[in-house]
Amino acid sequence: MTLNRRGLLCAGLATLASGPANAQAPADAAERLSMVETVQRMFRAEPGPGLPARVSPAVADAMLAVRRHEFVPANQRVNAYENRPLPIGYGQTISQPFIVALMTELTQVSRGERVLEIGTGSGYQAAILAALGAEVYTIEIVPELGRIAGARLKRQGRSAVTRIGDGYFGWPEAAPFDAILVTAAASHVPPPLVQQLKPSGRMVIPVGPPFVVQQLVLVTKDPGGQVRTRQLLPVSFVPLTRRR
Ligand code: SAH
Repeated sequence: MTLNRRGLLCAGLATLASGPANAQAPADAAERLSMVETVQRMFRAEPGPGLPARVSPAVADAMLAVRRHEFVPANQRVNAYENRPLPIGYGQTISQPFIVALMTELTQVSRGERVLEIGTGSGYQAAILAALGAEVYTIEIVPELGRIAGARLKRQGRSAVTRIGDGYFGWPEAAPFDAILVTAAASHVPPPLVQQLKPSGRMVIPVGPPFVVQQLVLVTKDPGGQVRTRQLLPVSFVPLTRRR
């Protein structure tokens, strides 16, 4: 199915029809539509082998459904649908919508799959994964952020299991995972995360030095358990910090 403007409009209207009654809905739905169109244009323009050429209908629908303005602080709400990262406090950021879409596409998350996110932050990426029908586990190292995001996800009816802790070690009790998304930059791919990936699993992680440019890396495990890594594109994430 090709995703054109009409397709997006239809998806947007379907979301509105099934969503809660809200006088503000039409305005923010239109902003989400415009945000997804911008992301779609970036996918078409983004050169690079191994990168998806478009946002899939499922991911577009999830991004049309999740109200990004509810994941940012009040003073950032006017910017909520711009295609850029925004500050969420504690020196952290909510990722740029393009990056959220890209990481979600690269991990090919589908309904019913078990997914681990490292770096809950605002909870936005977790909400997108939940909207796709995944069984979401997400870990945040900053306790206040983790608590706020957990309450926010619950309030919005987005089902995700949240935990405060150091995501470097993954979530052994809930492993193995079909997909793992690391939304903070690591100096290397944490071996516990590779271990917790199922055969045929996909992990996406920014790897490189902190505070500069890192490489977004796709780690895949084949059905026989063989691991393969591919560097995809330069990105800039906040660092994966470690518990002191
Ligand atoms: N996915 C988030 C964006 C996260 S920004 C969203 O959708 O809003 C990266 C987050 O990773 C920050 O909140 C940061 O506190 C968290 N983080 C950094 N190191 C971590 C670690 N070792 N374990 C878990 N979370 C970590």
